[in-house]
Amino acid sequence: MSDMVLLGDEAVALGAVHAGITASYAYPGTPSTEITEYLLRYSARHGKPKAAWCTNEKTAYEEALGVSLVGRRALVSMKHVGLNVASDPFMNSALLTINGGLVVVVADDPGMHSSQNEQDSRYYADFARVICLEPASQQEAYEMTREAFDVSERFHIPVLVRLVTRLAHSRAIVHMPDKAREETALHKAADWTGWTLLPGNARRQWHSLLERQKDFQAYTQQSPHNPLRLTGRHDLGVITTGLARNYYVENLEEAGEHPSHLHIGAYPMPVAKIRELVSHVEKVLVLEEGYPLVEHLLRGIIPPGIAISGKESGEVPEDGELTPDIVRRALSLPVRAGVDLPGVALPNRPPQLCDGCPHADTLEALQAALKGFDTTLVTSDIGCYTLGALPPYSAVESCVCMGASVGMAKGASDAGFRPAVGVIGDSTFLHSGLTPLIDAIAANTDMTLVIVDNQAVAMTGGQKTMLPSSSLKGLVLGLGVSPEHCRVIKAHHTQAAANAEIIRAELEHRGLSVIIAVRECIETARTRKKLAAGAQEATA
Ligand code: SF4
Repeated sequence: MSDMVLLGDEAVALGAVHAGITASYAYPGTPSTEITEYLLRYSARHGKPKAAWCTNEKTAYEEALGVSLVGRRALVSMKHVGLNVASDPFMNSALLTINGGLVVVVADDPGMHSSQNEQDSRYYADFARVICLEPASQQEAYEMTREAFDVSERFHIPVLVRLVTRLAHSRAIVHMPDKAREETALHKAADWTGWTLLPGNARRQWHSLLERQKDFQAYTQQSPHNPLRLTGRHDLGVITTGLARNYYVENLEEAGEHPSHLHIGAYPMPVAKIRELVSHVEKVLVLEEGYPLVEHLLRGIIPPGIAISGKESGEVPEDGELTPDIVRRALSLPVRAGVDLPGVALPNRPPQLCDGCPHADTLEALQAALKGFDTTLVTSDIGCYTLGALPPYSAVESCVCMGASVGMAKGASDAGFRPAVGVIGDSTFLHSGLTPLIDAIAANTDMTLVIVDNQAVAMTGGQKTMLPSSSLKGLVLGLGVSPEHCRVIKAHHTQAAANAEIIRAELEHRGLSVIIAVRECIETARTRKKLAAGAQEATA
């Protein structure tokens, strides 16, 4: 095979292809989106594997489980908060006797470049008692993804591969030495009890998972992803995980005699190697991207006389991404002088909706409709329209998790607040808005839900929504919303006055109403037209 320059996400995708996957499932979410984008392009060229966007991360995980049940390999990928959505099947699948290799790749976002929180998915692997691999380079992202499928089939567990933004979204040369593995033949799991978590079976499966912990420990103890290097220095040992290794190595030249060093790329923690390190040093510095997982777990492994420094002890900041300079300070190296650029004043450019965005027109119509009410509440969701919280709109007041706008508006209405309005995008509505809307329908809640239908998953690059825009009204009516109070409007400034009037009428209605504001995202419209023009030129 050859060398290629790949994003971390692309290295994962190609690693999965070369591991012989049959299918890959995902819901778009930064910074994991490019895994599936790559697989979609790959499968368009080569006819396989199957790569698909799904309604949400839970359905994606369950579809991958079905592939594993019949003996074939499946990848499922998501951003870190997506694993919250998929946590039910993920946690329970740890108790199954995984058949075809099942790998879940989760891309965390320390520093919250495009997320609501910084959660660390290594905790989920620890919580589920399964193996986690954490690459420190694009090369490792490729190799570990391939290996994860073998490990999954060897121990019959799902294996979690944890990425972070800076690795997922940066490029490096990846060497692919081995022959790609062929797709496995169909072979349904021989024993149904390993896949049916009735209490009697579940207890047996849980016991079996606990029994296998020593095998997982033996695997990570001998894994080349957990190298230990003891040196002549006894005052300090360093433990790195993931990308922190790069920042550490970058500073090593100035660190004098190198400290003893353990890198952890495979979890559960290699306990015997940790004990070997600490028997050699007086103090351990832990450098890890994300939460202080290793630092926390160390306290139950090493004797009290050994000092541990890291995030919990304050040597490393607890929030945000690590940087070489942060690691430098933790190593007590002198701070590097910055470069002054006199006269360069970079303008502050907060993110904003594109010029001509359909959401802007809907938010303006909504604001006009809300004028005259003494108090108003507009809950929002996750999508481009969340930028409506910022000036010049200042039109929405919350953003918590996918679908929360609907339940929160219902809760506010239940508490006696009116008018309570929820704003949600079409893709987010399909992802997690349907179920809270059913609650509101069952209670005929006095609230208005505005579905801003831009006919795309715009924020993550314009992926197609699971169902076409035209099906939304039928879906809402089918759930039981009254036809008189399910209104479709065109999200365009030329309709501003008429739209405000319709919204105002529904705000005054004492009961549930749904307004679907439709107009295609101008970015996806532009791309679509460009592709169509290109295709026309090619056939001319
Ligand atoms: S990408 Fe589309 S939906 Fe998002 S802000 Fe731009 S025009 Fe609006």
